[in-house]
Amino acid sequence: MLRLAPRSLRSLRSLRSLRSPLLARQHSSCTTPKPKSPTPSLKRDITSPAMADYLEQSHDRIFAANRQWAEEQIARDPHFFSKLSAGQTPEYLWIGCSDSRMPAETITGMQPGEAFIHRNIANLVNNIDLNVMSVINYAVRHLHVKHVIVCGHYGCGGVQAAMTAKDLGILNPWLRNIRDVYRIHEAELDSITDSAARYDRLVELNVLEQCRNVIKTAALQQNYAENGYPIVHGWVFDFRTGHLKDLKIDFAAILKDIQKIYNLTE
Ligand SMILES: [Zn+2]
Repeated sequence: MLRLAPRSLRSLRSLRSLRSPLLARQHSSCTTPKPKSPTPSLKRDITSPAMADYLEQSHDRIFAANRQWAEEQIARDPHFFSKLSAGQTPEYLWIGCSDSRMPAETITGMQPGEAFIHRNIANLVNNIDLNVMSVINYAVRHLHVKHVIVCGHYGCGGVQAAMTAKDLGILNPWLRNIRDVYRIHEAELDSITDSAARYDRLVELNVLEQCRNVIKTAALQQNYAENGYPIVHGWVFDFRTGHLKDLKIDFAAILKDIQKIYNLTE
């Protein structure tokens, strides 16, 4: 197992079980110097000192960036961390894809404390996923978020994989959720002849169906009936422009439609 403690990283020179440079992708917004990538010829040599140095540097730069960030916050507001320590009252619950290119705070300008965040492959809200169901329950019932945002993105690898007719092993049950979205909207999707446009539309429809899944929960329905919030939104992030697209789902109409069968307000 790859451990990230500096001491362990230093011992990587003798660690023969290391398979790949897991930390090779760099965070683009980090201002600390990036380590030089090992040369192609060293990539196959897992015992190479250059590889161990690279991993150590790519680990340590995160801590350097963290210290720099903490100092900047203190310089801007000496009470920043004492306010953070006092507790959280986030306005938003963000359910997004795990894709490294769509960090919620970075693309929205949100600050620490503003959003409660859950991410998974293809931003799915699965009824028997204890993780996402716990997140929704806690955010809605206890943190009293005012908005629940399901945010997908064009070019989603999870959605693309679900469009591939192939046995993908452990991913099958997860991607089945997206294949089900395709089945529900089969007529519309099959009418789109351009494959890229069909892929984009499935990303949007997947977000729409995950919004429906949020609205099906007792926590959402009961809190909305009592307080008039939270409202659910479906958004898509576009790497090509950097912009978010609001799908403008009709929350009230979806809620009404869903409650014919999934009414859990009693
Ligand atoms: Zn994705």
